Amino acid sequence: MQLIDGKKISSEIKNELKLQIEELKKTGKNVPGLAAILVGDNPASQIYVSSKSKSCQEIGMRSIVEKLSVNISEDELIEIINKYNEDKNYHGILVQLPLPKHINEDKIIESISPQKDIDGFHPISVGNLVIGKETFVSCTPAGIQELLKRYEIDTQGKHVVVVGRSNIVGKPIANLMLQKNRFANSVVTVCHSAAKDLSYFTKQADILIAAIGQAEFIKSDMVKDGVVVIDVGINRIEDNTNPKGYKIVGDVAFEEVSKKSSYITPVPGGVGPMTIAMLLSNTFKAYKILGG
Ligand code: NAP
Repeated sequence: MQLIDGKKISSEIKNELKLQIEELKKTGKNVPGLAAILVGDNPASQIYVSSKSKSCQEIGMRSIVEKLSVNISEDELIEIINKYNEDKNYHGILVQLPLPKHINEDKIIESISPQKDIDGFHPISVGNLVIGKETFVSCTPAGIQELLKRYEIDTQGKHVVVVGRSNIVGKPIANLMLQKNRFANSVVTVCHSAAKDLSYFTKQADILIAAIGQAEFIKSDMVKDGVVVIDVGINRIEDNTNPKGYKIVGDVAFEEVSKKSSYITPVPGGVGPMTIAMLLSNTFKAYKILGG
């Protein structure tokens, strides 16, 4: 069994971006910039946004966080997004979700310029992904494909079984792996909670991608020998041996499943760190598309 080290790969990606940004600075060029918009004071959202902004600073990327009142109206929020749609110093825009209930998330996502849609949530980005056109792919699925690529895991004609069909993980990773290119070209099955016999599908997986949101749900009797396991789940479970009283585990029972796997991502330290790395990478891509 080989561990897929997302922490290591994400810092490699950050270093590659940092070097490219240093080169831009040396030649006096504009640098890529990311505008993060945070509405309200949800503690988890605050942590996510500040860690994204910190990562930008680490690699020399410009970053700004717009902290907005929970009472902001939909129109006012769209006005602020439009300001960044026009701003040449900010190439990527992200609106941290979830938004307060009085704001229509779809409308907000659609107000971001598709050229600055670094989260890949805009319907134009999603549509381009489905029809196999170059586009922004949402960061967690993009991170999963990057891990497979950098560990040189063959995906051609392999059976990829995805458990979970969310718009941010399950559906986009399924669409990515289905594309006819060097780093995909897989046969893809997508499962969800209505699957009658989940094991029937998971046992067939050459590459199993679990994005369920249930702690240690995938057990060793649900996979075949030699499977590649990508565990997207982030679940908090009680742990009295830990001073915090809890620990973070994935959707896969790591101890037992790792014994049958050829490759497996740990939680934490697997897919998680890749999400921010791909956000930075998408911002750099937006910079290039927009011509700097
Ligand atoms: P989600 O929107 O809650 O979707 C979960 C999916 O799993 C749904 O499609 C659901 O089916 C399916 N599911 C639930 N129970 C199932 C069961 N017993 N059998 C088969 N399918 C089942 O979750 P998400 O946003 O995709 O996130 C999934 C996990 O990944 C969470 O733990 C989340 O914290 C984590 N995550 C991690 C990252 C990262 O950066 N590493 C990023 C995003 C999410 P239905 O559609 O039928 O309800």
